[in-house]
Amino acid sequence: MFVVKVGGGSGINYESVCLDFASIVKAGKQAILVHGGSYETNLLSTKLGKPPRMVTSVSGYESRYTDRETLEIFEMVYCGKINKGVVQRLQQHGIDAIGLCGIDGRIFEGARKAAITILEKGRKKVLRDDYTGRVEKVNVNLIRLLLDHGYTPVLTPPAISYEGEAINVDGDRAAAILASALHVETLIILSNVPGLLKNIADETTLITNIRLCDIEHYVKYAQGRMRKKILGAVEAVQHGVKQVILADARIEEPISAALAGRGTVIH
Ligand code: ADP
Repeated sequence: MFVVKVGGGSGINYESVCLDFASIVKAGKQAILVHGGSYETNLLSTKLGKPPRMVTSVSGYESRYTDRETLEIFEMVYCGKINKGVVQRLQQHGIDAIGLCGIDGRIFEGARKAAITILEKGRKKVLRDDYTGRVEKVNVNLIRLLLDHGYTPVLTPPAISYEGEAINVDGDRAAAILASALHVETLIILSNVPGLLKNIADETTLITNIRLCDIEHYVKYAQGRMRKKILGAVEAVQHGVKQVILADARIEEPISAALAGRGTVIH
């Protein structure tokens, strides 16, 4: 069994991801697809007159400022357009996919942050109306129930807080926790880059292989949201996933290419 996380950045070829995913599942492998939707959310929120606001925490991680209204737009895109689009494509390719978000059956559960401290123009600011958090628990029983009955889960944020509120969580880290909870061997994280690059502007600078013990040396190359992918990958490997492959979602057969070692393999 393996877990594929496909991002929501611009340029991602969802059709090739679904086609490749479907043929691997049809060949007899069990797999779970987790997806994002950041780019589409930016488009819709801008159209609705509420342009995205990205904030950087004091520890240097970038995230979407998610007030209640933003969360509703987020749900429209992640749980609606993208999730149902992916499920529809997989169904067309003969896979009995079922699309759920982290709220459904408490698939992804975690604590909502009471407040986040951000850096704005060099000054610290505390935000309290932010619905974000981090996945700490996965409803493995529900996932297994679906898999055991021949359904292929297609999962997406938001997650649910312990108090029952929807919370925006990082999809890469949710996929990492899912992969460790299910004891899978491989987690593939697809996005609109070939993997971790030494120089973002030059795709020939791909780092192909990272041992967990050397991660400190490479983490400095990751900027912005790539840092969360690396963090998720590290957490997954620390919790028993054998390898995490960061790979390109813009190409044909992106999952097969990743499984063949094309990308950044963290092990
Ligand atoms: P997704 O939404 O698809 O999950 P993100 O947009 O969050 O993906 O993360 C991928 C982005 O990370 C790339 O588009 C790239 O701009 C950025 N990035 C930052 N540092 C690096 C790096 N060292 N190598 C590759 N990508 C990087």
